[in-house]
Amino acid sequence: MGKVVAIDGPAGSGKGTVAKILAEKCNLVYIDTGAMYRAIAYASLQNNIDISEEEKIVELAKNSKIDFIDGKTYLNGIDISKEIRTMEVTRIVSPISSIVKLREILVDMQRNMAGNSNVIMEGRDITTVVFPNADYKFYLDASIEERANRRYKENKEKGMDVSLEEIKENISKRDYNDMHKEVGSLTRTADSIYIDSTNLTIDEVVEKIKNIIEV
Ligand code: C5P
Repeated sequence: MGKVVAIDGPAGSGKGTVAKILAEKCNLVYIDTGAMYRAIAYASLQNNIDISEEEKIVELAKNSKIDFIDGKTYLNGIDISKEIRTMEVTRIVSPISSIVKLREILVDMQRNMAGNSNVIMEGRDITTVVFPNADYKFYLDASIEERANRRYKENKEKGMDVSLEEIKENISKRDYNDMHKEVGSLTRTADSIYIDSTNLTIDEVVEKIKNIIEV
């Protein structure tokens, strides 16, 4: 097995942005586990499966192939990078990711994806469930206001028209749900390095992590 850099944290804490840059700089394979839960949420919508139909969602996941190629997310060979970032998907992804059997399937996939490469993997349960023995463990955080502002700006740049209020409400709900799951809930472990990025630039966070990891 290669080296594993594991990053957990709430929505908008900067995990994705920071992990992508670090992957480039340090030649690591980047695995965005949130995109995998989003892919299944998107597939459920496409197949008209309601979030209450857990068995159908689990079946769907069993028949899904998720790949990350050149920074894009593919579901069964189709690029769904844009589709998984819509508010429609964002609204249902947290409840869907609470399905225990679905988590088992995706956690297996995540461990397999790591293979023998050096990886940087980010999500909610990487430091606790997927790779509790990761070489480096981080918990990235920021205030709810800052996280909502970041998402708001990102969405605007992508031409998505969602109000700051709606984003803040969605993030609060996801925070609560993500921290109260039966399995794989977001927790800050004692052995994770805690970084509060509220008043830090992306580059500052990247540097902090880069100075710690030896990969
Ligand atoms: O990271 P992102 O915000 O894209 O993740 C979307 C959702 O997927 C999260 O709100 C969370 O409910 C779920 N998720 C999870 N476990 C992970 C990564 C994401 O449950 N490892």
